[in-house]
Amino acid sequence: MEHFICIQCGTQFDETAQPPSSCPICEDERQFVRHAGQEWTTLERLAANHHNRFENEAPQLVGIGTEPDFAIGQRALVLQSLGGNLLWDCITLLDDKTVAGVNAHGGIRAIAISHPHYYSAMIEWSERFDAQIFLHAADREWVMRKSSRIHFWEGTTLSLWDGLTLINCGGHFEGGTVLHWRPDGADGKGALLTGDIIQVVQDRRYVSFMRSYPNLIPLGPAAIHRILETIEPFPFDQIYGAWWKTNVLSAAKAAVARSAQRYLRAIGAM
Ligand SMILES: [Zn+2]
Ligand SMILES: [Zn+2]
Repeated sequence: MEHFICIQCGTQFDETAQPPSSCPICEDERQFVRHAGQEWTTLERLAANHHNRFENEAPQLVGIGTEPDFAIGQRALVLQSLGGNLLWDCITLLDDKTVAGVNAHGGIRAIAISHPHYYSAMIEWSERFDAQIFLHAADREWVMRKSSRIHFWEGTTLSLWDGLTLINCGGHFEGGTVLHWRPDGADGKGALLTGDIIQVVQDRRYVSFMRSYPNLIPLGPAAIHRILETIEPFPFDQIYGAWWKTNVLSAAKAAVARSAQRYLRAIGAM
């Protein structure tokens, strides 16, 4: 028996004797099956030729990414806080060196994930760090490895601790979630950790919003307005996106507003 991992999206599945027949996350219109066909690996095989790199993205915000690139290639973030650290988003590879590195930064109290493309090997991480996982209930169907450690939350916001708040914006996924971080984030001005629910683009004065990034399926005006409305009550000056250095480091709230206006004009919605 083995917990197989999809090579294209990095998702780890329930234990089976044979690899699953397909990966529902990659079969979905928001992702894709690799050109060479569906392939699987295991954590052990992945660890044989990959390792994780740690790098600070900001004070109290430590990035962890896999090298060479694996699957979607996002980096996770350990948000260090007095009441306990939060792992924001997740990556597939977890080895002893990574566990030691995370523990040297204070360990992990809980895990929260923006959307199913980053569910990756979240159960491995939750078991190694004895951490609960917070996922929005609207994306429950995309969980490929079940565990009692997952807490499915409902509604628009969920307060965690130390001024950390999960916000369900929808968009890319119905359960799409961003994290509001205060008071330490961005020197007290607040920050959003967004995965690709609010995607920081190459021109880092802007962000964007898509149903599918690889297949270029845009969102409609109702989804854009919902994102703007759900984040409106939260002050923030910075955004930390899904990849290394995909961050908006100042005036981020104005950048989101400007980007949404541009997006709505581009799709003929204003
Ligand atoms: Zn997949
Ligand atoms: Zn995604």
